[in-house]
Parts: sequence; structure tokens; C-alpha cells
Amino acid sequence: MANNVYVIGFNGFGDCIYQFPFVKKASERFEEVYLMTAFPFLYESLKNVKYVRPQTGLLTCLESMKQYREDFWVPAPMDPVDPTQYRLDNTPFTFLYHDGMKDGKSMMESWNETIPIYEGTSIDFSIPIPRDHYDVALRIYNRIAFGTNKKICLLHQPGTRKEWVNYARLPKTEYFQFLIDEFKDEYYFVSVGNKNVEDYIGKLHTIDLRFDYGELNLMTIMALASLSDMVISYISFLIACGVASGTKTFCLFGGYIRPEMWIDYKYMDMDKIGYVAPIDFCNCHDRLHECNKEIELERLYSEFRDFAHREEELSEA
Ligand SMILES: [Zn+2]
Repeated sequence: MANNVYVIGFNGFGDCIYQFPFVKKASERFEEVYLMTAFPFLYESLKNVKYVRPQTGLLTCLESMKQYREDFWVPAPMDPVDPTQYRLDNTPFTFLYHDGMKDGKSMMESWNETIPIYEGTSIDFSIPIPRDHYDVALRIYNRIAFGTNKKICLLHQPGTRKEWVNYARLPKTEYFQFLIDEFKDEYYFVSVGNKNVEDYIGKLHTIDLRFDYGELNLMTIMALASLSDMVISYISFLIACGVASGTKTFCLFGGYIRPEMWIDYKYMDMDKIGYVAPIDFCNCHDRLHECNKEIELERLYSEFRDFAHREEELSEA
């Protein structure tokens, strides 16, 4: 009897990083995992995963899928909208966790409700990084470390996707500038992003090193995050890269999605993740809403400083 699972993943790269540990557990528990994703390279280390091509117009997805031949993909094993088919097919579960997010559940809660894999223990989000990507990141790291004694901070400045505009979730760019200015003696700031697929809101000055045009591919950015001392972003893929790499990661929130949906006290190592959000948080779930984004600079400063200097109680994973 087939004992397979069909995982319908998100199309966001950050979401795909977050779902890795669940796909990994599923790959241990089921004979075959059918995974709908535009980023198969994230799951290369899992041997019994088959990939279903998502229907999407998202630029990052399309760019990623270009590297795979047509015969790489397998047909979807069932109609994802009709759960009765899974039983007929002896395929017991699917992950449809978009609904959970609409109900205000964290991504981890939603996954765990579908297959209760983690019982209150923190999740290991680490993803194996192929050697060639790691080596590119290491060369960049060595070049930086040769010229400075500062700690390295990787940063992704607020912007919107060209094809999927979401102003609501963005914090003010000036808050990033504030942190850069206040902590410039402590950190060497490296920005990563891709102006070919996103439009930045405002401009950051005094960045030490920029990779703003997609010069680094996603796995290399993940590797560089693992070599850095700090990651700063709004809710974007870079937060997930930071979480997966085990590097201290600080998130600035605008509005739109509550911090608790992305940052999970139950399943994440909270020694490694910090955030600041507007006190009067707008939970509108409306991408174009003019959410309140006000964060007091004094609070921003102290939240980041306390987080950055918090003693590491847990040993490195
Ligand atoms: Zn709003």
C-alpha cells in the first residue's frame, strides 16, 4: 500500500525554508514525498522527494524553475482541493496550511496540526548547503574579515516585489538607516537583494558592501548568513535564511502580518531571534493598506542592542 504524502508548499522562498524541517520529517515518515515547490534545490539532501511544478507567475519562482528540465517534474499525485481523494489513493495527508495563516496561526502550528511531528520542542531549521555555494560565501567572508575587525551583519532593505506589491508589511527604511548609523562601529553591513525583481523603498547610505542586483544566488546568501554574526530584515526570505543558519536574526515589522505568525516562540530558538514591531500593530491582512508603522527610536535602539549583546546561552548547533 502506498504510503505517500503530498505537500503543497508556499511559493515564497522564505516560506519554503521554514517548511524544510517538516518536509524532512515527512521524508523520514513516508515512502515518497510529493512536494509542490519552485525551489527543489532546498531539498536536495532529501532523497525520496518528487517535485511538482507550481503554477505561478512569481518572478523568483520562474527564475528558479528555469534551471530544471521539463522531465524533472512529476504530475501532481492528486487533486489538492479534494481531500477525499487522498484516502482513495492511500495517500494519507496533505499540508494545506494557508488556511491556518488566515486564522492567525503560525506556520509551524499549522504544519504541526496536520502532522504532529514536533511536541513543544524547538525545531532544527538548518538546511545542508552545497559545498560550491558555501565556498563562494566563504571567499566573500574572508575578503571582509581581512579588512575589518567588525562583526558582519547581513541586511535586506525594505522593498516590494515587482509583481506582488505589499507595502503594508514593510517597516520604514529610516529605521534600518538608524540601526546602521547607531551600530556602524560594531558591524560591517552587507546588503543583499535583487533589484531585478524588487523595488526598494528609499535608499540606505553607508552600506559597506552591496549585493543588490542578485549577484548572490539564494543558497549563497544562506551560506553567507551562516558565516555572519547578525541578520537584519523585514519579513522577507532573509529572516528565514537567518533562522535556518542559526545566526542571530532581527526582524523589523511594519503592519499586515502579526509577528507571531512568522516568529514562533514555541518552535524557534528565541535566543537567536529578536524583533521590534509597532505597539499599535495593524493586523489588516491588506497588502495595500497604509498600516501604522511607528516605532519609537529609543525602543528600536534598546531592543536591538539588548538582543545583539544577549549572552548566548545555548551552544552552537
Ligand atoms: Zn494595515
